[in-house]
Amino acid sequence: MTTVELPPATPEPAQVPVLSRYWSDAESWTLPNYLRQNGYQGLRAALRQAPDDVIETVKASGLRGRGGAGFPVGTKWSFIPQGSAPGGDRPHYLVVNADESEPGTCKDMPLMLASPHMLVEGVIIAAYAIRARHAFIYVRGEVASVISRLRTAVAEAYDANLLGANIFGSGFDLDLVVHAGAGAYICGEETALLDSLEGRRGQPRLRPPFPAVAGLYASPTVVNNVESIASVPSIMRNGVDWFRSMGTEKSPGFTMYSLSGHVTHPGQYEAPLGITLRELLERAGGIRAGHTLKFWTPGGSSTPIFTAEHLDVPLDYEGVGAAGSMLGTKAIQLFDETTCIVRAVLRWTEFYAHESCGKCTPCREGTYWLVQLLKRLEAGGGTPADLDTLSEVTGNIVGKSFCALGDGAGSPIISSLKYFRDEYLAHFATDDHPGGCPLDPSRS
Ligand code: NAD
Ligand code: SF4
Repeated sequence: MTTVELPPATPEPAQVPVLSRYWSDAESWTLPNYLRQNGYQGLRAALRQAPDDVIETVKASGLRGRGGAGFPVGTKWSFIPQGSAPGGDRPHYLVVNADESEPGTCKDMPLMLASPHMLVEGVIIAAYAIRARHAFIYVRGEVASVISRLRTAVAEAYDANLLGANIFGSGFDLDLVVHAGAGAYICGEETALLDSLEGRRGQPRLRPPFPAVAGLYASPTVVNNVESIASVPSIMRNGVDWFRSMGTEKSPGFTMYSLSGHVTHPGQYEAPLGITLRELLERAGGIRAGHTLKFWTPGGSSTPIFTAEHLDVPLDYEGVGAAGSMLGTKAIQLFDETTCIVRAVLRWTEFYAHESCGKCTPCREGTYWLVQLLKRLEAGGGTPADLDTLSEVTGNIVGKSFCALGDGAGSPIISSLKYFRDEYLAHFATDDHPGGCPLDPSRS
């Protein structure tokens, strides 16, 4: 092992891309290449400060969690009890949630493939700040290439004295483990993830206590999303004002938007928070040729859908919230006029029914019955009264389930009934036709 020599830092512009700037470089994932990209300069800056000062910097930056909920990252770190506070004497843990699996969400996997050291550097800074000596990256088990890329990066970091004992001669020690999950959507829920990491079946725990108080092995634990942690090194390198010069006052900085579906150039688009879908579509070549936007998800299928009337909503936490949805994971799934809303909602609901962990009755039983109802409606066998039943069953899940999966399952149903009730009604059989999707040319 030899301690790595960092080249001099180079100034960075206050503009995107930051996270994805080097994704197209040859072998962007290697340590030598990351060092040429100002890699580990943020860690060096952090280690020159007291841990509490690092937390204050991240707090002042206003960085919000990029896993979906948008909880302020520095505030979460500050919840970890320190010193003589109750629980302060127990080990602290940092766990990165890399179990990305919300439908449409595909930003963390390319980030880990192209820039694994950006995540590793963020992990070391975050662990130093919360005084953790052990950190874990919990990755979806199916993505073998990502796991292997991360493990290679971690081995490189150990060889360069960026992990292990006495990092950079600072006296700070950290061990980092890359753990492969077993491929269950619910293990992206932070407490189910912790159960799974401890070797048990992944099912959500009651909160409170939140992981900050009793997390991994009942010890104070920070659970953060990949993109949240990967955003930290650039803040430590360039400072709070640099970060806050992008985005909006309450949603500062940059983020990854994932565009998929009926768009000309699907992919990851890094942009300042507050950009609109209209602007993103200009970069992505618009909706596929000859078609028009019908509906879209601002943050994955767990967030209420939007329509073409929402093209100018600022895509930040406040803007999307004020317009009636949630920014969520910023997974923008786009659907044009050829898509049947009832079929799309059925597909999403089948996903939630399949992924329901079964712990609580409203979600376990309710999602099953939602699928039965939606199948009947889609086939044209419903009546207007069935729409009331659909709302009623959804209402018995949302807000009454044990974790956010139940609420997420209700979002597409409630929002699609709000915007497309007529399309549901148009599925029902009449004297003129046998029922089914009105967009289906074979319906007589
Ligand atoms: P949440 O708002 O309950 O919690 C967010 C974070 O803040 C958690 O880490 C929680 O521990 C912490 N927190 C909240 N209040 C706290 C308190 N009083 N004290 C200490 N810590 C506190 O949200 P959630 O249920 O963890 O996550 C829901 C979100 O997950 C949804 O918005 C959805 O968009 C997202 N999601 C993401 C994926 C994905 O693939 N990335 C998949 C499914 C859902
Ligand atoms: Fe499990 Fe669904 Fe209940 Fe969450 S809401 S605990 S996923 S059954």
